[in-house]
Amino acid sequence: MKYFSFLLLTLFLLPLILYAAQSEYVFFILTQGYPYKQIGFSSRKHEEVCLKFGDKVRIEDEYVRGNITWFRCYREPYFFYLPEGFIVKKATGIHYDSHGNIKIGKEIVDKRNALPVLYRPNDLIPVPLRYSAEGYENRVLLLRKEAEEIFSRMIEDAEKDGVKIRILSAFRSAQYQSYLYYNSIKKRGVLQDSVAKPGHSEHQLGTTCDLTTDEINNVLSQDFENTCAYQWLKEHISYYGVSLSYPKYKERVTGYKYESWHYRYWGKARWEYYQRKYGLFLSR
Ligand SMILES: [Zn+2]
Repeated sequence: MKYFSFLLLTLFLLPLILYAAQSEYVFFILTQGYPYKQIGFSSRKHEEVCLKFGDKVRIEDEYVRGNITWFRCYREPYFFYLPEGFIVKKATGIHYDSHGNIKIGKEIVDKRNALPVLYRPNDLIPVPLRYSAEGYENRVLLLRKEAEEIFSRMIEDAEKDGVKIRILSAFRSAQYQSYLYYNSIKKRGVLQDSVAKPGHSEHQLGTTCDLTTDEINNVLSQDFENTCAYQWLKEHISYYGVSLSYPKYKERVTGYKYESWHYRYWGKARWEYYQRKYGLFLSR
């Protein structure tokens, strides 16, 4: 009897386990539903395959054609093919705190690692209007409470030194990111590298800001590096637990082009370290 059960297990369960291990879930990330024929080719009935942001699809196989990786996907009841640029892998190893947020500074998000595409921190608060870049007053900027306090404090402190820093962009949901991403694909093709893939942007964390200043008419520009605001940040950000995410000459490490305007807050542990070490933070 024991032998029979073992045989049953081997015959029926093992192939199932192996099959599950082979197939992998990903999420479709373009903004609207697209009949599959618009983005690739389908085995059959392609008009009926209409995907929308966040739809879960199962990966069955992958192969490279030219310099694009394609995935054979399955979503009840059809098989179809999607290029790699239109899907994002399921996030793994994510630990949430008791409030359902990922601990600040513990979020791994880069070209390889994605956040859950539907993740939105639940402690987002609006940034006071006076810290928004002029001309962008209609844009509601959201940051996680702790990050809002830090960026506000940093901007106030810079102002005391006669330097004006303003925020252009803060939290972005992965869904909003997908608009930016798709627009960039339309302009530059699927291999574009100017806009982060949805789920792979630090803006989704709610702890990251794009900064600007009057000196460059409050635009988002690489010229930010030539401003007093940039210089001030360079000298002071570490005391606030903030850092420049994509520094110059580090493209091979970060996977992103240099962005003089993009700053991420890494959590209290970092600035407390600097506070202990130098006794500078918040004591000005
Ligand atoms: Zn940015």
